[in-house]
Amino acid sequence: MQGNEKQMLLDPWGDVEIKNYKKLFSEFGLKQFPENWKKELNHYLFERGVVIAHRDFDKIMERIREKKEFIVMTGIASSGKLHLGHKMIIDLVKHFKKFKAKIFFCIADIDAYTTREKIKTMEEAKKFALENIANVLALGLKKRDIYLQSKKEPRYFELAFEISKKFTFAELSAIYGELTPGKLAANYLQYADILHPQLPEYCGAIPSVTPVALDQDPHIRAVRDVSRKLPYKFTLPTSIYIVHQSGLKEGSKMSSSKPETAIFLTDSPEEAKRKIFRAFTGGKGTIEEQKKLGGNPSICKVYEIYKYHHPNSKFVKEIYMKCTSGDLICGECKKMCAEFIAKLLKLHRKKFEKNLKKAEKIVWGE
Ligand code: SF4
Repeated sequence: MQGNEKQMLLDPWGDVEIKNYKKLFSEFGLKQFPENWKKELNHYLFERGVVIAHRDFDKIMERIREKKEFIVMTGIASSGKLHLGHKMIIDLVKHFKKFKAKIFFCIADIDAYTTREKIKTMEEAKKFALENIANVLALGLKKRDIYLQSKKEPRYFELAFEISKKFTFAELSAIYGELTPGKLAANYLQYADILHPQLPEYCGAIPSVTPVALDQDPHIRAVRDVSRKLPYKFTLPTSIYIVHQSGLKEGSKMSSSKPETAIFLTDSPEEAKRKIFRAFTGGKGTIEEQKKLGGNPSICKVYEIYKYHHPNSKFVKEIYMKCTSGDLICGECKKMCAEFIAKLLKLHRKKFEKNLKKAEKIVWGE
């Protein structure tokens, strides 16, 4: 590693659960997401602390207050099935549509192919893309909000090449540590993903925000850096940082590559139920002990499902209170959670199937 040896390196392609958020904030100059903005943005995910930090999001808050347009750009690499953690990000993006947000949601098939060892062909990345798109549409984004990276206009790829000339290898190594040619190529596309909506051909240079997980911050730092070097008057991209939905087992993030840690949006209700019943909880060793001492929802994966996905805040608070007071035991709580998720997945499945044709057209159509 070059430069400051004490600096933490985040791995945007890794699978590690981040624990020390405060250290990251001070290390990389992120600001805590203020309480008053959470109220103004008026969605349970903000209220429940899903967005923890930001860079320059005050520019977006101004646009929201002034009822002016702004860009929301984010996406997913099509390297696996979508799970509840992805749903959380898509729910948040969808909420921005209530303001004057222009959505650019990227299904990054080229990124998936070039950076993920397990994706052996572009066709494989596109197959995942098809399923991902049907899921994203089922969650409420529209066709016009979504694009497939490999099907983007030539102007986008031109921008990626313009970007590639603005970095030295040493600069990128200092941000990312070890790099492969595939990751380098994917990075240039990621920066073009974030910046291209500000080109005159799209929305022009208006403020943009990219919601990301904390481990994606290296991309944000690099894209902000390069946006200043390009011959366009880009507004410096802003970002908000979303906590990972953690995996169902202790000490992992929810990951497509570890099916037992994740509830996939296409899981059957029975499969999801099985996973919920095996999840790590904050319960005590015996029912008697739990009734006497209460459980610990702050480490409980079942509670986390309620917290990030149940729309009724009063109900979620009740679960918390009943758990800590010992009025609720884990078996009963898991059963309720499994029923809630089964209903959600059933409804989602119908919408997913309805959107498969549309997704096929996006991936394989002209
Ligand atoms: Fe988790 Fe529910 Fe058990 Fe509390 S009662 S520890 S929230 S499963």
